[in-house]
Amino acid sequence: MNIREIYLDLDDVLCAFSPFVFNELVGTDNEISYDWWQPRWGFQIEAAVADTRRLLGKGQLPGDFWLNVTRDIWANVPKTPFCDWLIDAARRAVGFERVFILTRPTRHGDCYGGKADWVISQLGELWVEQLVLTKHKHKLASADRLLIDDSAENIDAFLAAGGNTIMVARPWNPLSREPCPVEYIRHKWTHYFADPMPAFTIPEIETTDGQQGMEEAR
Ligand SMILES: [Mg+2]
Repeated sequence: MNIREIYLDLDDVLCAFSPFVFNELVGTDNEISYDWWQPRWGFQIEAAVADTRRLLGKGQLPGDFWLNVTRDIWANVPKTPFCDWLIDAARRAVGFERVFILTRPTRHGDCYGGKADWVISQLGELWVEQLVLTKHKHKLASADRLLIDDSAENIDAFLAAGGNTIMVARPWNPLSREPCPVEYIRHKWTHYFADPMPAFTIPEIETTDGQQGMEEAR
């Protein structure tokens, strides 16, 4: 069956949600990477934040955890290194209008607004019309649709509903031993598409204007 539509998960696929939000809510300055994510935290950012705040002797965050994730935090999560590579491959494979960003929102409006802000600033205004916010991802499954997601639960449900999937390797899913998500995505891609994905090269790290200015001043 030919794949005609691609659904790309946002958090921890297109953007480095968990490490960034961890830093924001714990007050740490860890590298934006999944290397330090502790297996005992599983896929629970709440547990990771609570555990580390306790270890550091910091008080626990008040109230509903997700109320602490402000619109600014949602809007400012950095892209994963392979975000643009994945989007370009998806667009080439099925066309822009058949690529959707499929993401589960929290119950708070800041999340809806912040995710839209992120898509507009990181991908461009046109992409916000491809943004689909729902926790019921499997309702969109069919034999000609492909979901690319890091959540084993989402992957299983999408498969069970008759869809196709590629899992993105993360410490909390069964691909946790994969050294890099990219090679696994490229490998699975060949199951669905005749044209292989281009090789992935790590993009140059962007620096802010201020940092560039400092470099020039040296
Ligand atoms: Mg995700």
